[in-house]
Amino acid sequence: MKPVAAAALGALALSLTFTAAADTAAMEGEALLATAQQLIDAAKTDETGLGFVEGLTTEIGPRLAGSPDEQRARDWAVAELKALGFANVRVDGFTIPYWSRTHEHLTVLGPSAQSMVITALGGSRATPDGGLEAEVVRFDTLAGLKAAPNASVTGKIVFIDEEMFKTQDGSGYGLAGLKRRECAKAAAGKGAVACLIRSVGTQHHRMPHTGVMDRSGPGGPMPTGALPAAAVSAPDADQMTRLLARGPVRVNLDIGIETAETAPSGNVIAEVEGGALKDEIVLLGCHLDSWDLGTGAIDDGAGCGIIVGAAKLIDALPGKPERTIRVVLYGSEEVGLFGGDAYARQHSEELGAHVLAAESDFGAGRIWRFQTRFGEGALDHAKTIQSVLMPLGVSPGDNSAGGGPDIGVLARSGVPVVTPSQDGTDYFDFHHTPDDTFDKIDPQTFRQNVAVYAAFAFLAAEAGWDFRAPAQSE
Ligand code: ZN
Ligand code: ZN
Repeated sequence: MKPVAAAALGALALSLTFTAAADTAAMEGEALLATAQQLIDAAKTDETGLGFVEGLTTEIGPRLAGSPDEQRARDWAVAELKALGFANVRVDGFTIPYWSRTHEHLTVLGPSAQSMVITALGGSRATPDGGLEAEVVRFDTLAGLKAAPNASVTGKIVFIDEEMFKTQDGSGYGLAGLKRRECAKAAAGKGAVACLIRSVGTQHHRMPHTGVMDRSGPGGPMPTGALPAAAVSAPDADQMTRLLARGPVRVNLDIGIETAETAPSGNVIAEVEGGALKDEIVLLGCHLDSWDLGTGAIDDGAGCGIIVGAAKLIDALPGKPERTIRVVLYGSEEVGLFGGDAYARQHSEELGAHVLAAESDFGAGRIWRFQTRFGEGALDHAKTIQSVLMPLGVSPGDNSAGGGPDIGVLARSGVPVVTPSQDGTDYFDFHHTPDDTFDKIDPQTFRQNVAVYAAFAFLAAEAGWDFRAPAQSE
């Protein structure tokens, strides 16, 4: 631990009035809320969380799912979490179909010969050695491609130029991401030979955004999808459109990949072990893997730092919380939520004992809203938590939280979830690009996230509330 955090936690410990022997009754009411406030105050100078993401992104860097880099990240995280004093630190292993890029080039041929900045989509097929040469056919939207007659597409390279727009809640991603996921499949169905998309992003840097594409086969996930597929940087997408306005454009698309039917991955787990209710679990999640282009700072080193920092603040309290706080650093999220599925499978017996789950996977922007998905009889607890968070600038949200990508499977199986909504206005400027690096994290908004997670996780672990409680009948 770094000196600043040690000093802050020392001050916190001294100011608390309860002891390790204090029971739930003594912690109720005022004392409970006072401790939540102490955690919020301590988070303002927390160094553990930021130190975690700084260390991960610096010492490991990119952590592609199933790669030796992801393995190094698991080893690093295990050592780090043990050094921080967490209990039951371990790896739940599983395997995934592996894909990685080896090279990617797009060259415009003919009188306007020039190269463009692209990145292969996760799951792209390789082109033949030396690339494939074809004419480009442009569509404004994915829907436009789907509606096009096959003859207009057959033998060509499809280019979908659909733009993505900034929103605070990231809702633009759902629509814009569809072209990334579905382009190759839709284009292959019409006889196209490859697929290019305008990057799924909201900036105009000459930086392409990667991300996974649909690569499901009849038997489930596969290493590759239907066609070679790549994202073009926004300025190159504009350039392509200007060239096409002048006449037909022929290109050479050259993509090389490596695949394996199975590769090792895993979820890294650590706990703040509870007291009397230690079999009941408050789960805080993030994902440890990242795309290969950047160092996975905002996606999702930040999320891991936030939950580790929050859990560590609670661990440093003089008394154990009643319930166990389980930190899960999921593996292989980017390539198909494999870690989330593996966790639900491997822990199916104890899902009923998961009292609450939350996941941080949207950068480190300020949390502006706190949504829940609780039983109707537990909505007073939502109000209590929201009132504690309000001074942090967090508005109360409704009861329709989705949780997050890796804990979606838990939410669907009935585990109560919360969504602390982060300001994602700038998130898709950097998301899945070489520019996803540590300097993009604002320490101040990061620490506000740590404060929110520490406060609600503590209340959920200590108060003994039943978040599944059904509506009270009259
Ligand atoms: Zn993510
Ligand atoms: Zn991602």
